Amino acid sequence: MSSVSRRRLFQSGAAMAAGAALGSRVPAAAALEAPRANGLEALARDLRNLRDPQGRPSRLIRPNEPGFLVAAWPNNGRWADVSPLAIAMCTGDEAVRACIAWARQERRPFAIRCGGHNYAGFSTTGGLLIDVKPMSGIAIDAKTGLVTIGAGANNQDMADAFRASGLAVASGRCPTVGISGLTLGGGWGFSATRYGLTCDALRATEAVTADGRLRRATAKAGEDDALFWAARGGGGGNFAVHTSFTYQAHEVHDVTVFNIVWPAERQVELMLDLQEIQLAHPDLISTRSKMAPANAGKVTRGALHVQTLGQFFGPPDKLRELLAGPLGRVAPMVCEINGMNYWAARDYLVTDDPIGLYDIRSSYVAGRLGGAGLERMIGWMERWPGGSLRQDNMGILFAAGGKVKAVGTTETAYVHRKSDFIVEMEASWSPLDTPEVVAAQQRWLTAYFADMQDFVQKESYVNFPSRDLPNWLDAYYGENVARLRTIKLQYDPDNVFRFPQSIPLPQATK
Ligand SMILES: Cc1cc2nc3c(=O)[nH]c(=O)nc-3n(C[C@H](O)[C@H](O)[C@H](O)COP(=O)(O)OP(=O)(O)OC[C@H]3O[C@@H](n4cnc5c(N)ncnc54)[C@H](O)[C@@H]3O)c2cc1C
Repeated sequence: MSSVSRRRLFQSGAAMAAGAALGSRVPAAAALEAPRANGLEALARDLRNLRDPQGRPSRLIRPNEPGFLVAAWPNNGRWADVSPLAIAMCTGDEAVRACIAWARQERRPFAIRCGGHNYAGFSTTGGLLIDVKPMSGIAIDAKTGLVTIGAGANNQDMADAFRASGLAVASGRCPTVGISGLTLGGGWGFSATRYGLTCDALRATEAVTADGRLRRATAKAGEDDALFWAARGGGGGNFAVHTSFTYQAHEVHDVTVFNIVWPAERQVELMLDLQEIQLAHPDLISTRSKMAPANAGKVTRGALHVQTLGQFFGPPDKLRELLAGPLGRVAPMVCEINGMNYWAARDYLVTDDPIGLYDIRSSYVAGRLGGAGLERMIGWMERWPGGSLRQDNMGILFAAGGKVKAVGTTETAYVHRKSDFIVEMEASWSPLDTPEVVAAQQRWLTAYFADMQDFVQKESYVNFPSRDLPNWLDAYYGENVARLRTIKLQYDPDNVFRFPQSIPLPQATK
C-alpha cells in the first residue's frame, strides 16, 4: 500500500472518529459539493500505485477516457443513464480500501460492481463505481475440493477453470453474471435442487468493511461469523466489498439435459405435470419451466407454448420415463434429450445474456402453483399491453426446493428455504418503444405481480430485485431482517454501504 493511501485511510479514520464523537453519521451517500478535481487525482494516483501480486496496477477511469463507457454500462440498459463520476478498476484489496476511504473522506456516494447484472440498477451510481472485476483469479485445491475465487470472476470464468477438474461449484446460468452478486444473494442454477445454492457451498470470504479492515469471515465463532452468515443470501452491497470467496466444490458426473417445447395447448395441465415431477424428484431433476408466446405482438392463449429446460442427474432413458406424463399428454414440437458431460451440459443450458431493457418481479411458491394460479397468469399474459419485443420471460418457475430446502431458514441469510419454486415475471422493451409503451408495460407488470399475490408466498429473491417492490425488506429477508440489521450496525454503523434497498440500521439508531 502506498504511503499516500495509508495516510488517506488514516485521515478517513480520523474523520470517522470525529464524526462518531459528535454523534453524527458520515453522510457517505450525500453529495455535498462538486467533486474536487484534486480529490480524484489523488485517488487515481493511489490506484496507479497499488499493484496486485502480478504487478497489475489498479486504474481510475474518468468520463471520456478509454474504456469508460464499456466499464460503466450495466447489463440492464434501463440504468445506463446513471453515469459514474469515475470507475475504480480494482486489482486488489488495497485498491478497494483506498476507494472506500476516498469515498468516505470526500463524502461521495459509491456503488460496488462485479458482473453488473443487478436488475434494479444497484450497481450503478452517480458517484464512485468500485469495480472488482479485475480480481478474477481462481485457485482449485484438488485434494480438499476447496476453491478460492477472486470476487470479480463470473460464471464463465468458473466454467473455464473447472472444466478439466472433475469438480464444480453450483452456479448460475448466465455466463457474465458475477459470482459476487450471485453468491451474496443466494445463487440459483440447474444444480440447485441437487447440490444447493451457490451460497450454500461458501466456506469463507474476504471483504473490506467500512472501517477499511480486510476481514476473513468464516462460520467459526470469532472469525467474523456474522459477516459470513450475512454473505450467504443477505444481498450484495450491504456490508462490505468482498474481494474473494472460498467454496467447497462437489464432484461432477455425466448428466442429461433437456429442452422440450409443447404446442400452444393444455398449458395448465402441462405446467402442473412438470411441477409434480419436480416436486417428487428434486434430487434428480432441475427444471426451468414457463409459458411464453411464440411471436412478438399481442399475446393470446392460443400462442402460448410451454417450455421446460433443465438438467437430469441420470441417463436419457430414465428421464424419458420420468417425463412420460407430459410427453404423452401433448406431443412436443421440440424434444431435445441428450446425455453428456457436465460441462457440455452447462454450455447447452447457458442463456444468451442479452444486454437489454427490462423490469422484473419475483415471488416464491411452496408446493406447486396450482391451476387457478396458472390460469390467472395466462390471463395477465393476454393483457400484456404490447411493445416491440417477444416476451420470453412473462412467467417462469425455477425449481428451488430439494437441497435448497435442506438448510434452515435462519441458518443462512437466504430465508426462502420452505419454497419449491422461484416465480419470475418480466417485461422487456427495445429502443423502438416509446416512453408511453414502456410505462404501460411497467404498469402491467405491477398489476400482474399484485394480482398473483393470492397464489404465491410474500417473498422475493433479492437477486431478482425491483425498486417498485412493496415491503421489499421483509420480502427479501423475512425472519432474518432483525439479525441483518444488527449485523449492519456491527459492520457499517455509519451506513456507508447505502442504496435504495440496502439493509437499514436497526430502528433505534436510524
Ligand atoms: C441475464 C441474467 C441472467 C441471470 N441468471 C441468473 C441465474 O441463473 N441464477 C441466479 O441466481 N440469478 C441470475 N440472475 C440474477 C443475478 O444472480 C443477480 O443479478 C446478481 O446479483 C448479479 O450479480 P453481478 O455481480 O453480476 O451483478 P452486480 O450488479 O455487479 O452486483 C449485484 C449486487 O451485488 C453488489 N456487489 C457486486 N459485487 C460485490 C462485491 N464484491 N462485494 C459486495 N457487493 C457486491 C452490487 O453492488 C449489487 O448490489 C441473472 C441476471 C441476469 C441479468
